[in-house]
Amino acid sequence: MTVYLVGAGPGDPGLLTRRGAEVLARAEVVVHDRLSVASLLDLAPAGAERISVGKTPRGPSTPQDEINVLLVARGGAGQEVVRLKGGDPFVFARGGEEAAALQAAGVAFEVVPGITSAVAVPAYAGVPLTARGLNTTVTVVTGHEDSLGGGRTDWPAVARLGGTIVVLMGVATRGFIAEQLMDGGLDPATPVAAVRWGTRPEQETVRTTLAGLGAAAIASPAVIVVGAVAGLDLAWYERRALFGRTVVVTRPPATASALTGRLVHLGAGVVELPVIEIGDPEDGGAGLAAAAAGVATYDWVAFTSANAVERFLPLLRDARAFGSAKVAAIGPGTAAALAEHRVVADLVPARFVAEALLEDLPPAPARGGRVLVPRAAVAREVLPEGLRARGWQVDVVEAYRTRTASPPASLVAAAAGADAITFTSSSTVTGFLEVAGRGALPPVVACIGPVTSATARRHGITVDVEAPVHTLDGLVAALAEVLGPRPSASAPASSR
Ligand code: SAH
Repeated sequence: MTVYLVGAGPGDPGLLTRRGAEVLARAEVVVHDRLSVASLLDLAPAGAERISVGKTPRGPSTPQDEINVLLVARGGAGQEVVRLKGGDPFVFARGGEEAAALQAAGVAFEVVPGITSAVAVPAYAGVPLTARGLNTTVTVVTGHEDSLGGGRTDWPAVARLGGTIVVLMGVATRGFIAEQLMDGGLDPATPVAAVRWGTRPEQETVRTTLAGLGAAAIASPAVIVVGAVAGLDLAWYERRALFGRTVVVTRPPATASALTGRLVHLGAGVVELPVIEIGDPEDGGAGLAAAAAGVATYDWVAFTSANAVERFLPLLRDARAFGSAKVAAIGPGTAAALAEHRVVADLVPARFVAEALLEDLPPAPARGGRVLVPRAAVAREVLPEGLRARGWQVDVVEAYRTRTASPPASLVAAAAGADAITFTSSSTVTGFLEVAGRGALPPVVACIGPVTSATARRHGITVDVEAPVHTLDGLVAALAEVLGPRPSASAPASSR
């Protein structure tokens, strides 16, 4: 019905507006640029058509006229169309031409503003566009005048205005621009900050002066800031603990986001390579359903994974179904999954492994007692055997099975090129070996705990990081300590 001209922001998916996310979520067609962030495209329904319309540097791109025709055709045919554009759709982006074509054709459209790179990229580099006492104007100017056909920029006028000058699309013409600004009267010593791939893990800031701009090693796409504010350095993003590193997450999609989010927060790029899938138990769930129906007859129910919680809790008919049965969780992640269902674990051991859970559970009462352990089809016997040795009657029921997944070869290749890989269970280790093989391991291997590490070592994998606290937070903290940020990241302007 409507064509939405949506600003995607400069790269960090968190910088999409809520309105943008809303219209993406119900798009039937997404027309996007080649460099659009994959996780934003994932916000559209799986069945939505995705059309890439360029633009590769010097490569093929769809001419603007054709894009306009496409938008008019799809919108006119009654489809919900999202035209996703980098930054803001009305800032050096030809969104105005698209809107004019839609208006002329009588097709309804809406403009969803985005955070322009002109503002967001300097912010992520720690350069405030205005600073008290330093400037009273900000001029945003394109370095690629011909692309807009709108006449020439009066560079001497820009120079006279002074203040902060933000140049988009100016990498190729940076020498010319610097000359023009100096000819216009700007001091050759005026600070310059050029920020490439801003707001992304690839972000790189080169600091120079107007005199040095022409010869500085700067590649596209970059935002170039000229002016006194470019001499300020309030860097924060590039100082994050895993900034610029690429880390592989091997968990299945349903649980990957918790780990991905933590890594991204520390500035890492993440390759999600799901090597296992969670499937139904062999019996289709009959055993689990029966156990759930009789849950009140147990003294304890011991959960050793969030997956088991997610499979078991929905089978309970009534919030009071546990009766007097107590609930144990192997670690905080499992306890958090229980808490989502408003069940507060009675016991979480001090160390998050089966051995510790076993130690902390009380021995069976003299009258005898029963423990239910809903868990994966393949799992270690430490807990049930240990409980039996302590006098408990133990029912182990299969809550789910893990299967090896079959991710696309492109993801396996991306994983092999990463800086580090994370394993959060033994099944992710064996899954990875089946899917990708040992040769595809990145240089640093990080495991969540001793059981996962042991599985890795048994398969000849050297474990570089083992989380002392066996949680996602513990894993990420331990990895950050060993790996640290990308080495060149905070180094001053130089090589490339
Ligand atoms: N509509 C966009 C601008 C498109 S023009 C916006 O509002 O941001 C393309 C130019 O934007 C690039 O040449 C570069 O100068 C700048 N740019 C966009 N995203 C960028 C990023 N993540 N890092 C650095 N520069 C970026």
